[in-house]
Amino acid sequence: MIGRDRITTEFPLVVNATSSTGPDQFSTLSHLECSRDGSRHDADVVQGTSPLGAPLLARYDLERAAATVTPAGIATRAPDLWRYHELLPVRDPAHVVTLGEGMTPLLDLPRHGARIGVPTLRMKDEGLVPTGAFKARGAAVGVSRAAELGVTGIAMPTNGNAGAAWAAYAARAGMRALVAMPVDAPVITRRECVVTGAELYLVDGLIGDAGALIKAAVAERSGYQDTSTLREPYRLEGKKTMGYEIVEQLGWRAPDVILYPTGGGVGIIAIHKALLELRELGWLTGDLPRLVAVQAAGCAPIVEAFHAGLDESSPPADAHTVAFGITVPKALGDFLVLDAVRSTGGTAVAVTDEELLAAQGALARDEGSWVCPEGAACFAAVAQLRESGWLTGAEDVVVLNTGTGLIYPDTVPVDVPVLAKTGAIPAMS
Ligand SMILES: *Cc1c(COP(=O)(O)O)cnc(C)c1O
Repeated sequence: MIGRDRITTEFPLVVNATSSTGPDQFSTLSHLECSRDGSRHDADVVQGTSPLGAPLLARYDLERAAATVTPAGIATRAPDLWRYHELLPVRDPAHVVTLGEGMTPLLDLPRHGARIGVPTLRMKDEGLVPTGAFKARGAAVGVSRAAELGVTGIAMPTNGNAGAAWAAYAARAGMRALVAMPVDAPVITRRECVVTGAELYLVDGLIGDAGALIKAAVAERSGYQDTSTLREPYRLEGKKTMGYEIVEQLGWRAPDVILYPTGGGVGIIAIHKALLELRELGWLTGDLPRLVAVQAAGCAPIVEAFHAGLDESSPPADAHTVAFGITVPKALGDFLVLDAVRSTGGTAVAVTDEELLAAQGALARDEGSWVCPEGAACFAAVAQLRESGWLTGAEDVVVLNTGTGLIYPDTVPVDVPVLAKTGAIPAMS
């Protein structure tokens, strides 16, 4: 296992410097491809979705990348996501906007793994990135590329964490940020937007309602880009580095199963894309890991579509869960999530809020890590899949914890005695 500790002692921690490579070798980005019909589109102008309204996927000259860099070469680079820069869209290293994101720990969880019958259980802990959620990865790459293409303001709806991350990176880039989030989104994420100077609006509705307001505002403003989930191509590229890191940290090997808490689905689509790219580069051989999309029972459109054998999802009537980051009733990329799950022999699982909160507490007591409710949903799902027999217990399983529990303080009620100054702590029981 390679954690942050080992890497930072081996290599100097260099923030905001990437390598001495010049602009023409920094990225091997070649074009954008429509995720529905495969049509090619120019990657060097600001793009939203394809003419079909589908997400655009960044494509690279992977032959050139394989000829330019090797896994051994990557191992000598700074421990942040820019170590994979040939496979990222930013062409000029001078345009990299970074707060030191990436290369999060891949932790062994022996005590919790033994408890739920999966001894080789690991957690990729994204609670340790700037802004406390993996959204920082998408924001770092998305904002860098937007700035490189001349965008001066980003605008987006969010369930909280993405807005906080994009606001932070926009500030770092000297760019404006316009954010709209549901009033029910975690309160800390409002403060994160305000402190970094974003223009913030709270919406009495869900993320889709916020999205409609943002779309209308962007149409009236110049210099702003709508950076809604999968409506610009590069957030996905930042998030795919989670997939590269898991494989690198396991010694250029894939685990058997990866579980991901799925909202808009960018993370699981991105990890799938990363794995396919690594295979094409020749850096990963054999079967891809089985990818498991985990949702909360209160909002599980992708799980329902998966089990109904459908290619697209339908929004639930009344979406509600404490795992706010995965409250996405209708994801633009649902068909890509379903493809990632089906083509790897994975599955889709829904867990109740009660189950995920119980898993959150059990994990914290077993391993000392307070994960976000979205990450906790995946631990509940591992236990469920072990009970059903889908997991035998012999697999190498990696759970994505997408953020820190600190963002959601209210998920843990505190009911402890208050002592008078003259009182006494009870004797040990
Ligand atoms: C946004 C978010 C998710 C869902 O991620 P997608 O890539 O949109 O599916 C999961 N967990 C947390 C903490 C989030 O903020």
